[in-house]
Amino acid sequence: MAVGRDIIALSNPALLEKVDKLRDLNIGQHVPLPQLVVVGDQSSGKSSLLESLTGIPFPKDQSLCTRHATQITSRRNSDDRVDIRIIPGPHASEDYRKDVETFQTRMSSGLKFREQFVDILKKANERMGLRADISTGNGAVFSEDVLKIEVHGPDEDYLTIIDVPGIFRTTTQGTTKDDMVMVKDLVKRYIRDDRTIILAVLPSNVDIATQEILELAEDYDKNGERTLGVLTKPDLVLEPSAQAAVCDLVQGKKRPLTLGYFLVRNRGASSGSKEQPELDQIFQQHPWIDLPQDRVGIPALKEQLGSLLVEITRREFPKLLQDVSNQIKECKRELNSLGPPRQDEREQRSFLSRIAETFQDRARAALAADYNADPVFDQDELRLITHVVNITDVFSADFQQGAHSRHFENLDLSISSVASEMPADCDCEETPVGLMIDKLRALVEEAGVDNVAPGELAELGDIIVPLPPHRTPMPRDDFSAWINDVYLQSRGLDLGTFNANLVSTAFAEQSRKWGDMTKIYMSRIIITLHRFIAAAFRSICPEEQTRGQLWSAILESLVERYKVAMAQASLLIEVEQRKKPYTLNRQFTEALSKARGYRVTGLLRPKARKDIRQYGELQYMVNLDDIAKAAEGKSNVEQLQEEIHDILHAYYSLALDRFIDNVFQLAVDYYLLHGPSSPLKVFTQDWVINLESEKLERIVGETKSAKKRRSKLAKKIEDLSNALKILKT
Ligand code: GDP
Ligand code: MG
Repeated sequence: MAVGRDIIALSNPALLEKVDKLRDLNIGQHVPLPQLVVVGDQSSGKSSLLESLTGIPFPKDQSLCTRHATQITSRRNSDDRVDIRIIPGPHASEDYRKDVETFQTRMSSGLKFREQFVDILKKANERMGLRADISTGNGAVFSEDVLKIEVHGPDEDYLTIIDVPGIFRTTTQGTTKDDMVMVKDLVKRYIRDDRTIILAVLPSNVDIATQEILELAEDYDKNGERTLGVLTKPDLVLEPSAQAAVCDLVQGKKRPLTLGYFLVRNRGASSGSKEQPELDQIFQQHPWIDLPQDRVGIPALKEQLGSLLVEITRREFPKLLQDVSNQIKECKRELNSLGPPRQDEREQRSFLSRIAETFQDRARAALAADYNADPVFDQDELRLITHVVNITDVFSADFQQGAHSRHFENLDLSISSVASEMPADCDCEETPVGLMIDKLRALVEEAGVDNVAPGELAELGDIIVPLPPHRTPMPRDDFSAWINDVYLQSRGLDLGTFNANLVSTAFAEQSRKWGDMTKIYMSRIIITLHRFIAAAFRSICPEEQTRGQLWSAILESLVERYKVAMAQASLLIEVEQRKKPYTLNRQFTEALSKARGYRVTGLLRPKARKDIRQYGELQYMVNLDDIAKAAEGKSNVEQLQEEIHDILHAYYSLALDRFIDNVFQLAVDYYLLHGPSSPLKVFTQDWVINLESEKLERIVGETKSAKKRRSKLAKKIEDLSNALKILKT
């Protein structure tokens, strides 16, 4: 390992303590903090220097060399204790952060701590996911976390040290080029700022020109204004010329630095249990005795570091304050630009709830044709009820005109004018109703109901039926021949009557097209409704990601409800076609009597004479005898066929009215539009209230990056605001 780096602060506790608290808040990643950084080449004596300055026995073992930043803070305090914990690095995940933050050790300082220290370091390394043996095994070689060691005691000087991994020039066993780059970046990040004082540790017994650290320091401190040279191992310099070179440095005669050089002696391998004062005796000897005494020894260095840190802190304090407030402003501005937050569940729920409320408003207006409620209703797809009514009118007209397989005979059997059967030869296009229907048909076509995109079909699954390009074929004209066949094929020993099942069979055949036509109608309504919901969503929730999620969240329920409506329509068809024709409607008997009357009238018409009565009113007169003989010319079969026709016709007309009404009322209006299980009632505020929080999160949770950014900004603002409070007290 090569260069490490440490931060040291002494004296003026109030000011330095503030900065230290900021460091605890990780403010250093946002605003550069005044700090002292110790860097040096491998074996230059960094660990030994740290031990000399703090009394903590840093291991000199290579495998335990600094592989993460270590911050050592000493505080004068009546308590005698050491707190050790891990401050997660700036890129740590939330889970990792939580995990490493549980690493906390507190013990009294003194011998026990000194004995256990190496063990604690090992455990911390393990918690940071660092491999135990640097040359082999799993796990990272370096970490961006900071190990914080806080030493409290009545005799402690105020002092903060942060030790970072040293730069290495060649990849040794277990370390990769990536590690090399990462460490170099880490060190650079610590030393590049103007508020950092670089302590360059240089062994005295090695030519200073070979020490890469001075060059690195120069890169970031062009004028050498914040680099302090710390020369170690003076006891190992025996050559007079080498000693002279060291003296030249300390005296500023060679490679001068604004902050100058210090000469210190750490405990070496052969120093045994010698205390610092004993080691410092060396400076009373030649040649070091000639050096300025405030430039040699640990106590002098300690004092200098303390005042340096105070000085830089004092100098930078106003700028620091300014920096912090500026950054808060900047963060707030950016946070604002991200729009309303949807971070926690409450925010998400209220956000989605507002969307649901708007949707319900739109649905209500669209069902009431209250298109003035909002300008969005200019959009054709949102005019729901109008489309539904138009489609339904076209359906009703088509149904009356051609849902029967064969035309009935042209008898005026009208039960009501609306339900009246169009005669086969009637040119309905020219009637006012016909013209109106044509117009509607054009409108429906214009609305593009039948132009279903492949994607839409996929969404609606197999619920809707394919929409045929042509209108349903018109009824055939061979009613008599057909009914004759039906009769002949189903008659039994019936005397002057017919098999009761015959009407059932005939009606089923006559209404054969009902099923298909109804399903096409239902499909058109469902497509229209589906498009309305989609268009409403687009107008309410322009954010594509959220809309997509919301859509998939409700799609299943929508489809389920379309299915129910379709099933209801199928049930209605089934009921009409499969059950025995029956009705309680008195109009049936009336229509049938009327038809019978017409039949008799038709027979008598040739025998009637004109008779002008008073007021010139034209009347027809018939002899009673003629009435008695009127039907004589008809065969039994003929009469039965007529009877079957009339019953079927009366019943069909009535069933058709009933059916159209039911399909609209029960399948469309109840199940698709106004009923409680309408698809329009899927996405409501109630739905939002009952939504599970995970689903809620999935739907309205912000994009990962937006969310990350927002929470990062929020945390940063919180940290910086706390920092500001600390700085201002
Ligand atoms: P690091 O790799 O920069 O942390 O260097 P270390 O602190 O581990 O020191 C490397 C070796 O130099 C160790 O064996 C230390 O005991 C020894 N050392 C450090 N400073 C001095 C010193 O001032 N005098 C002597 N004699 N040895 C020292
Ligand atoms: Mg070391």
